[in-house]
Amino acid sequence: MTAQIIDGKAFAARLRSRIAAEVATLAGQGITPGLAVVLVGEDPASQVYVRSKGRMTREVGMASFEHRLSQQVSQQELLELIQKLNEDPAVHGILVQLPLPAHMDEAAVINAITPDKDVDGFHILNVGRLATGQRAMVPCTPLGCLMLLRDHLGSLAGRNAVVIGRSNIVGKPMAQLLLRDSATVTIAHSRTEDLPELCRRADILVAAVGRPSFVQGDWIKPGATVIDVGINRTEDGLVGDVDHAGASQVAGAFTPVPGGVGPMTIACLLANTLTATARIHGLPDPEGLTP
Ligand code: NDP
Repeated sequence: MTAQIIDGKAFAARLRSRIAAEVATLAGQGITPGLAVVLVGEDPASQVYVRSKGRMTREVGMASFEHRLSQQVSQQELLELIQKLNEDPAVHGILVQLPLPAHMDEAAVINAITPDKDVDGFHILNVGRLATGQRAMVPCTPLGCLMLLRDHLGSLAGRNAVVIGRSNIVGKPMAQLLLRDSATVTIAHSRTEDLPELCRRADILVAAVGRPSFVQGDWIKPGATVIDVGINRTEDGLVGDVDHAGASQVAGAFTPVPGGVGPMTIACLLANTLTATARIHGLPDPEGLTP
């Protein structure tokens, strides 16, 4: 069997066009969605992410506000900036690029963002809302994975899903979203016993581990749908958490790296900014952008 490739890049491009159309409609009502991105320090990977987020925000017609602070800035100064952005009516979404410098308390900073503008979905209120099935802002990467899965499989109800990884930004919210769609969900991590055997039972396998080509072809159930979240920089370039040569022989479909989940993450950040704008202005949620 040769697996089908789930083209996240093409899906993300379609999603961004749809968002651009909705932004144009809002412009007719005098509303311009605005996304503020805050970067602390000079981490090169974070700088690249922030630049591309700004470019794509502008491309869909939203306003982009970039705030670059020095590595030495105090937490108090950062909190004061967040407070200003919370109160700024031109700003509908606030994203603080992680990781933050070691002298900062990441949770305190994230929880200072007003939950309605928390387009990363990391605020403790949004985490709780997602877990209890309430209207939340949902973390971008798992939201993108969910969109790809629904598009490829239709209903996820009753399917066996295994998520490898239990981080707050990918693994846990991914599991919550799958559960919300009535999949039967298992979360695996570094202490899981006999991971290959567990994976072989998965109709849906999501790998969010951070280890290059970790999931082998013979761990995959024939015909399964495999979502590879991993982004690992190796001498051979960008590599996912799944061995793609092996997966392509067994899986029904999988997301490539690059060109799978990565482009969906930024597209979903724009989707969340649009959703936040609609909610702040008392408009209905844009269709198909929320779980
Ligand atoms: P974390 O390092 O926070 O979490 C990794 C998870 O993998 C942990 O839960 C860990 O278990 C688990 N793990 C590690 N080793 C093993 C093992 N041998 N067997 C089973 N589980 C293991 O990573 P993130 O969740 O932040 O990111 C995961 C990957 O996704 C990374 O490659 C990252 O770059 C990528 N990523 C991609 C994004 C995108 O846009 N495509 C966005 C965000 C992340 P334990 O908890 O027990 O330590």
